Amino acid sequence: MQWLDVYHHKNPDSQHRVLMIDKDANPPERTWCFWSDREHYYDSLVSHRWSRVKFASPQGEVVQDISDFTYQYISGREFFKSAYRRIHADGRIDRITAEVSNTQKAGGLTQVETDQGIFAAPEVYSSVPDANKVSNYKKQQGGAGMWQHFRGWFIDTGEDIFDPETITLMDFRTEQKNGAVFFYVLPFSRRKALVECTVFGPEIWDDEQYDEKLREYTERYIAAEVNITSSEKGQIPMSMMDFDGLRYDGTRSIGTAAGIVKPSTGYMFLRSLRAVECMVGGKARPETPPRFAFYDRLLLGIIRDEPQQISRIMHSLFSRNDFTHVFRFLDEQTSLQEDVKMLSTLPYTPFLKQLTKQTLSSKNRVK
Ligand SMILES: Cc1cc2nc3c(=O)[nH]c(=O)nc-3n(C[C@H](O)[C@H](O)[C@H](O)COP(=O)(O)OP(=O)(O)OC[C@H]3O[C@@H](n4cnc5c(N)ncnc54)[C@H](O)[C@@H]3O)c2cc1C
Repeated sequence: MQWLDVYHHKNPDSQHRVLMIDKDANPPERTWCFWSDREHYYDSLVSHRWSRVKFASPQGEVVQDISDFTYQYISGREFFKSAYRRIHADGRIDRITAEVSNTQKAGGLTQVETDQGIFAAPEVYSSVPDANKVSNYKKQQGGAGMWQHFRGWFIDTGEDIFDPETITLMDFRTEQKNGAVFFYVLPFSRRKALVECTVFGPEIWDDEQYDEKLREYTERYIAAEVNITSSEKGQIPMSMMDFDGLRYDGTRSIGTAAGIVKPSTGYMFLRSLRAVECMVGGKARPETPPRFAFYDRLLLGIIRDEPQQISRIMHSLFSRNDFTHVFRFLDEQTSLQEDVKMLSTLPYTPFLKQLTKQTLSSKNRVK
């Protein structure tokens, strides 16, 4: 969707016609959040901005103003409404509901096979990987890999409780079991918030497992009773795999399928926007510098092997560093010198263990 929206805006005179194929007639229900210290293409869609961020763990709490940055929220409903309005107003774009099963190259075109027929085009962009290749890959790897998976409640407390200026980015004050578990709280007003139970780990939970945790957390840290107005859930791959190898033949990948998600955080909205802007402008998309891929790989190894260490590592990261530096580091915008300074504030044993383990045996390398 970002691709179409940006393409349409940046190429008003293009004669190309575009066909958009999606198996679902309605866009998914979701919200997007990210931090930013500069204007971006979707600025006008941001409905909430926060300037203070809290981190909590059993070792204590830290709250910081994030100066030039703000943490921003875009409602999926508003995003799709605005993008579809622009797309519908453009006579060059058609849209159909159909499920893609395969693609193949034929005579300079890519043929897209769907349950509604075959369509062919000289350029095909796909936001999903080839299902057969994914299934073979999983068989080879002997597992489904690692996920950031979550379920959130939109709640109304009925009384003034929240500080609407401060988000809780990570709260590790609950039991660390079945993955690294933390809570995320986005207050929209003194009474309304999104509270999310997020897990880094290999097994996706049942709704009941998240709900039990969400009940425990809200009762203990928010209010004895809360009214749940709606919910959202999702799973985002935390993976170092070569997404390009899973591409449908003859297509170019966009979004999650292009490996845009930051493997160690699950954030992708602005990364994807930057990549799309490059593609639409005919430039190569920005590559992750190798040292950031190296840090991601080590952290994913710790999540895989010692998830209970994540709370301690994150506590050191947020209690001993300026949050704005952490954001710049997670955006892969810091210098090597700054990285060394920041990494020296973290407990080194889990990282050294991972370094040894992943260097000594390719079997242990995070994929
Ligand atoms: C609930 C949720 C909340 C998230 N919150 C954030 C956030 O706060 N910040 C952030 O940076 N990232 C967030 N993410 C991660 C990421 O930004 C989103 O997942 C993003 O929407 C991914 O975009 P995409 O285009 O890769 O995939 P999708 O938006 O999932 O698009 C894939 C599309 O392909 C269609 N499709 C699938 N298979 C087929 C097929 N065989 N044939 C035809 N169509 C098919 C689907 O119907 C879907 O519309 C969140 C993810 C979820 C699920």
